[in-house]
Amino acid sequence: MAAHYDVLIVGGGIAGLSLASALAGNCSVALVEAEQELAYHTSSRSARQLIPSYGPDVVRELTVRTLELIAARDAQLPEPVLTPRSFMLIGTEESVRAEGSGHMNAITHERALELCPALVPGAFSAAGLDTGSFGCNAPLLLADHRLRAEAAGADIITGARVHSAQRLGSGWEVGAGQEAFEAGVLVNAAGPGPMKSP
Ligand SMILES: Cc1cc2nc3c(=O)[nH]c(=O)nc-3n(C[C@H](O)[C@H](O)[C@H](O)COP(=O)(O)OP(=O)(O)OC[C@H]3O[C@@H](n4cnc5c(N)ncnc54)[C@H](O)[C@@H]3O)c2cc1C
Repeated sequence: MAAHYDVLIVGGGIAGLSLASALAGNCSVALVEAEQELAYHTSSRSARQLIPSYGPDVVRELTVRTLELIAARDAQLPEPVLTPRSFMLIGTEESVRAEGSGHMNAITHERALELCPALVPGAFSAAGLDTGSFGCNAPLLLADHRLRAEAAGADIITGARVHSAQRLGSGWEVGAGQEAFEAGVLVNAAGPGPMKSP
C-alpha cells in the first residue's frame, strides 16, 4: 500500500533538504533520495562559496536572501556555516565589468597579485574583489537541514531512486526503489540534469 504525503520531494541535495526543512511541520513531507547517503552529488562537494556579486540579477537576489537566512540560523548553531571569505574575479576590463556587480569593487593589478601571489602577472589586465562573499560549510548546512526536517516530522528515505511518476487525480503516484507513494505535490529537486532513472 502506498504511503501518502502532502509533498513528496525527489532528491536529497541542498535544494531538496532545505525545502523539506522549510515545509516540515506545516504539512506532511517525504524526501526520497536515490543514493544511500544524502547530498552525494554536487551539494556536498561544490556549494562552498556564496558570492553576492555572482550571476544574473535573479541569482544575486537569491544569494543575498540565502545569506540572510543562513546568518539568522548561524546565531543558533555551535559553529557557523558562513565564514567571511572574499571572492576575486580576474580577466579583461570588459569581462570583469560584465561579470561583476555592484557588490564587487575594482582593485589594481598589484593588489590582486598581493592577495594571490600564485597569479601569473601577464595573464589578466583587470580584477575585482567581492568582500561581502562567504565561505559555506556545506556539510554542516546540509546536516542542519536534515536535522530540522526530521525533527519536524519529515520522512527521509535513502536508497530509493524514483523510477515512475504519474498523475493520480489532482496528485501523483510515485514509485521509488521498492516503495510506492502518493502525494498531492511532487517536487523535482533531483539536481541540475534531467531526473535520472535506472
Ligand atoms: C564545480 C562546481 C562548483 C560549484 N561551486 C559552487 C559554489 O561555490 N557556491 C554555490 O552556491 N554553488 C556552487 N555550485 C553549484 C551547486 O553545487 C549546485 O547548484 C547545488 O549543489 C545543486 O543542488 P541540488 O540539490 O539542486 O542538486 P544535487 O546536489 O545534485 O542533488 C540532487 C539529488 O537528487 C538525487 N536524484 C537524482 N535523480 C534521482 C531520482 N530519480 N530519484 C531520487 N533521487 C534522485 C541525486 O542523487 C542527488 O542527491 C558548484 C557546482 C559545481 C559543479
